[in-house]
Amino acid sequence: MKIGLFIKYEVVDKSFEESIKKKIMSFGYSIDNSNPDYVFSFGGDGTFLKAVQKYLSQLDHVKFVCVNKGKLGFFCDFKEEELDEILSNLDGDKYSLSSYRLLTARINNEDIFAVNEVRIENPFHTLTSEVLVNDSELETFRGNGLVVCSAIGSSAYNKSLGGALLDSALEVMQIKEIAPISNCLYTSLINPLVVPSTSKITFKGNFKEVVLGYDHLTKKELSTSEITISLSDKKVKIVSKKDRDYIKKINSSFLSRR
Ligand code: NAP
Repeated sequence: MKIGLFIKYEVVDKSFEESIKKKIMSFGYSIDNSNPDYVFSFGGDGTFLKAVQKYLSQLDHVKFVCVNKGKLGFFCDFKEEELDEILSNLDGDKYSLSSYRLLTARINNEDIFAVNEVRIENPFHTLTSEVLVNDSELETFRGNGLVVCSAIGSSAYNKSLGGALLDSALEVMQIKEIAPISNCLYTSLINPLVVPSTSKITFKGNFKEVVLGYDHLTKKELSTSEITISLSDKKVKIVSKKDRDYIKKINSSFLSRR
C-alpha cells in the first residue's frame, strides 16, 4: 500500500514529516507522493482542498485521510493522536469511505473542478449575469457575485453568505447570490435556490472584469460569456469515521467552543 503525504507546513515543525514517514513505514506501507493509494492530508479543510486539486487526475483510485492539525477541519475526522489506529485499520472495515461528486465548469477551454464551490465575483462594479437552470431563465442577477456550492461545500463560503447548510448525504447544488441589488428598478431572487444533481446552471454575461473562484483557486480575464456549472462524475473519496454525523459536525464546528 502506497501513502502520499500532503502537509500544511505552516502548522508543523521541521521534524514532523520525517516522524510521520517513519510511522507509516513501521506499519509496512511505503511513501509515494506520485502514485499513492491513500493521501494523508495534515492541516485543515484548506489543506484537503489543495490535496484534491493536486491528485485530480488520480481521484478514481486515491482515498483521502484528512488529519486535523489545529484548524476548523470540517472534512477532517481524525486527530494526529489517532494515526496508529488509522494505520492499523486502513484495510479493514473500521472506517467508512464517503464519495462526493465534484462541481465542474468549462472555462477558457479548460475543465475546472471544485469540492466546495464555483463562484463569479466583481466586488467593485455591478456584475450582471443571466442565470439559467436547465436552459430555463431564472433571473437577471445584478450584484457582487454568484456562488454555486455542493452539499459538502455548503458549510464554507456559502454559509458565510447566509446560504443553507446542506446535509452531505444530499446530492444537490445550491445557488447563492452575493450582495444582490433589489430595488424598484431591479429584482433579485435573494433566497438561496437548491437544485437537483442533474441540473445545469448557466451564467451568461460580460465576464471580462469578473474573477472566477473555485475552492482556493481563481481565474481572471475570462474569455467566455457563458459559464455552465454542473456536478461532475469525478468523485473524491474520503475516509471517515463510521459514526460521523452531520448534525454533530455542524454543532462541533460552528456552535461549540473549543
Ligand atoms: P482557507 O483559508 O483555506 O479556508 C477558509 C476557511 O474555510 C477555513 O477556516 C477552512 O477550514 C474553511 N473551510 C473550507 N472548506 C470548508 C467546508 N467545506 N466546510 C466548512 N469550512 C470550510 O481559504 P481559501 O484557500 O481562500 O479558500 C478555500 C475555501 O475557503 C473556499 O472554497 C471557500 O469556500 C472558503 N472561504 C470562505 C470564506 C468565507 O467564509 N468568507 C472566505 C474565503 C474562503 P480550515 O481552517 O480547516 O482550513
